[in-house]
Amino acid sequence: MKVNAQTKLVGIIGWPVEHSLSPAMHNAAFAALGLNWAYVPLPVAPGQLSAAVRGLAALGFQGANVTIPHKEAVLPYLDELSQEARFIGAVNTIVIDGDRLIGHNTDAAGFMQALLAGGFRPDGARAVVIGAGGAARAVVYGLLAAGVVAITIVNRSLQRAEALVEDFARIPLGSTPWLKKVPLTAVSLSSCSSLPSLVAEADLLVNATPVGMWPRPGESPWPDDAPFPGHPLVFDLVYNPPKTKLLLQAQAAGARTIGGLEMLLYQGAKAFELWTGQKPPVEIMRTALREGLCSDFSQQANPTGPVW
Ligand code: NAP
Repeated sequence: MKVNAQTKLVGIIGWPVEHSLSPAMHNAAFAALGLNWAYVPLPVAPGQLSAAVRGLAALGFQGANVTIPHKEAVLPYLDELSQEARFIGAVNTIVIDGDRLIGHNTDAAGFMQALLAGGFRPDGARAVVIGAGGAARAVVYGLLAAGVVAITIVNRSLQRAEALVEDFARIPLGSTPWLKKVPLTAVSLSSCSSLPSLVAEADLLVNATPVGMWPRPGESPWPDDAPFPGHPLVFDLVYNPPKTKLLLQAQAAGARTIGGLEMLLYQGAKAFELWTGQKPPVEIMRTALREGLCSDFSQQANPTGPVW
């Protein structure tokens, strides 16, 4: 691919962004479809967010991804929000239309697409979600929209879990009739010798915390001394390492598992579609992600070896 005056630009705004796998995933997709587009990392320190976002349109960018720590902070700088972004309260994808910046959240759709591809049937299902940050909000939104019947939010800070439940309860019901039927419950992780009993009655367990992520792959939100029930599907949003300790615990009990790389893939595929209007080459993007993760891993100081 040759970068020239006609090249359309997108990028990822975050701090830090040097380990992001998104440039490899999107540039592989542009090359596969012969698109004269390029995706660049855009390291933006927290104090610079407003100036950076305003500059995107002036520089002719078509859009951008937004990642930690800017997903919530970026909202005031956008002209319009999709329904998902508004209800979740976080933006991970910006589409630039002329001089208007439109905020989307493709994490919810990415999570659900990976979940459904993994064989999960949401109708009538009960879910336990560990975490109450931005990713947990996207997961809860996706599950509610898909028709689960109950969700328990288990979080280290009970206050944050309760805030999530209250925010979803405040969403106007007129446009979202699915919300009123679904009980959302907040539970503290520390009081959670109850986690095994909650999960025993659930069809799905989601880890939406960084627990188990590199450089601490030996950690898991599941207690070492509790047997894992074999029936619930387990989805870990962490993708580095691809097989987290939680997924290994679940697999050892015979449970089905899905890793965070699949969500990263599908949220990226949805963003690609929003920017280019083209069907994303999902297999090419998956391969680029896996290769990017392997090479990133091989460059890290890694005393214990990868867990996958
Ligand atoms: P966030 O807004 O900072 O929220 C982090 C959540 O994890 C909070 O609920 C926090 O609890 C909890 N937490 C953090 N450290 C913990 C610990 N040591 N023990 C127990 N709980 C802990 O982050 P986020 O944006 O929601 O992201 C959460 C995770 O999802 C990250 O690992 C991120 O990489 C991953 N993610 C993956 C994808 C994907 O495509 N695969 C997409 C988005 C996010 P408190 O409220 O008590 O602080």
